[in-house]
Amino acid sequence: MGKPISIAIDGPAGAGKSTIARRLAKELGFYYVDTGAIYRTVAYFFDLWGISPKDIDGITRYIDELTIRIEYDDEGVQHMIMNGMDVTDDIRTQEISQKASLVSAHAIVRDLLLDMQREMAETHNVIMDGRDIGTVVLPKATVKIFLTASPEVRAKRRTDELLAKGQKADYNKILKEIQQRDYQDTHRAVAPLKMARDSVKLDTSELDIDGVIAAMKDIIAQKVTL
Ligand code: C5P
Repeated sequence: MGKPISIAIDGPAGAGKSTIARRLAKELGFYYVDTGAIYRTVAYFFDLWGISPKDIDGITRYIDELTIRIEYDDEGVQHMIMNGMDVTDDIRTQEISQKASLVSAHAIVRDLLLDMQREMAETHNVIMDGRDIGTVVLPKATVKIFLTASPEVRAKRRTDELLAKGQKADYNKILKEIQQRDYQDTHRAVAPLKMARDSVKLDTSELDIDGVIAAMKDIIAQKVTL
């Protein structure tokens, strides 16, 4: 086998990256690497230890106690293993979303996770999504796509998703949280969310999932024979 193919998908919270990337990975037979889940796992770890995601001294002191592993089950679903414990479901809360956004701003955290992400792409065909995949993690990715949508559309999608699961959802609160995360993710000093120069931008505001998948396949097909 030649060099593995890597498809980097970056973009703000709620642009549909994970839904789309998961489906595409299944169709193409690639591994889907959700890097947000890795940052969420770090946030969850420090949360359990009672350390604020802003407390760089506490983070520096305890970061060596953390081990993270990614495992895939038979369905190809990514599981996050934190110090031997499967925390895949525990990291999916609004509170951990916010804490992940804060903890991911520290260089010490980003450095710790860099090799792990790169190793995945060196050994497998991957679709990797996050904020800095095309800019920092895989600057030589085969294909780079920047997936975005207006904050209002993203907040509406997230609200509908929660309501469909029978959970409470307040559109205005969700919109505020999305705007706050956008601000934090784009304004941090280390690896901020931004579009790589050689990335293709895809605005999903007016598209449904099938429309996004079709557009992504067109973009990918220009670089790779599928
Ligand atoms: O994608 P997700 O919403 O799960 O990511 C949670 C947080 O992790 C983001 O708000 C972002 O701050 C951080 N993150 C990051 N770099 C990545 C992926 C996620 O900084 N590659």
